[in-house]
Amino acid sequence: MYLALKSAGVKSGDTVLCNAYTLAPVPGAIENSGAAIELVDIVDDYTIDLNDLEIKAAAPDVKWFLLSHMRGHITNMDRIMELCNNHDLILIEDCAHTMGALWDKKKSGSFGKVACFSTQTYKHMNSGEGGLLVTDDPDLIARAIIYSGSYMLYERHTSRPDMAVFENLRTMVPNYSCRMDNLRAALLRPQLRVLDHQCERWNKRYRFLEQELNKIDGITCPQRDAREDYVGSSIQFSLTGQNDKTIQAFLVQCLEQGVELKWFGNKEPVGFTSAYASWKYFGKLPLLAQTDRILAVMCDMRIPLTFTLEDCSLIIEIIKAVAKNILK
Ligand SMILES: *Cc1c(COP(=O)(O)O)cnc(C)c1O
Repeated sequence: MYLALKSAGVKSGDTVLCNAYTLAPVPGAIENSGAAIELVDIVDDYTIDLNDLEIKAAAPDVKWFLLSHMRGHITNMDRIMELCNNHDLILIEDCAHTMGALWDKKKSGSFGKVACFSTQTYKHMNSGEGGLLVTDDPDLIARAIIYSGSYMLYERHTSRPDMAVFENLRTMVPNYSCRMDNLRAALLRPQLRVLDHQCERWNKRYRFLEQELNKIDGITCPQRDAREDYVGSSIQFSLTGQNDKTIQAFLVQCLEQGVELKWFGNKEPVGFTSAYASWKYFGKLPLLAQTDRILAVMCDMRIPLTFTLEDCSLIIEIIKAVAKNILK
């Protein structure tokens, strides 16, 4: 993501808009680029608040928008593109959770000027660490190739643009040494072939969990837009109206029975999860009351493909029993 921002042209002192519900590497990449972050609120289905985006996009000197399709929730991309066009915003997509997903039959990652896919262990393709960029901009990808550490060997890059594109860049773009090595690439290539099949397997589990969670009193999964072809590699639900203490008790009882849920309402960053208030290296970030209200009751669970449908069924039984016991 850092290379995507740099290759797109983000400069120190620029401002990058970003939805406040995302993961730590996203603000981290923005900070690394030297830019300031302007967080945008979210709405009840966990996607970005398009009204807040519109207001913040209208500010002078705002040119960049890093949209994180966090936990695979895809907002109305038609509205996003319209808004980007109206405000001359350059869109960069974080597709860490939408590899294989579509909005209205168009692949996630094909909307922005550049899109970032992670291949870290818990993503849709796994090379341990690493990731890749997609773009149809020859200049941008030539920069990314040199930034990533091709040295003057970029001719060997199998998906490079025409050699002429590199002519003006070769001595103007530094080497940041962020290459993907051949070993990781070799691990990923066979996974690419089975990606669609894996996505179907995730969605089978997701749809079952979603349907059963929605039957439990006090638990709601968000309504998803029919144009969204998501990849259900994780599931989120809201314990609407519950206070922190009740939610903590709920999480503890689930964990005691082996169901580990994450909670975005935690005041302290824990494990992979952190709320925007803990990105204190940016200085004081403005409070987003709506995002705070939504994150305060949001629970999250990964859906590894090692879970069988029977495992999912057992998880539901456990959550159902705990909910009955705890939620009022
Ligand atoms: C995992 C993840 C990333 C990228 O993580 P890397 O560790 O840099 O590969 C970006 N955004 C989200 C939402 C993620 O979950």
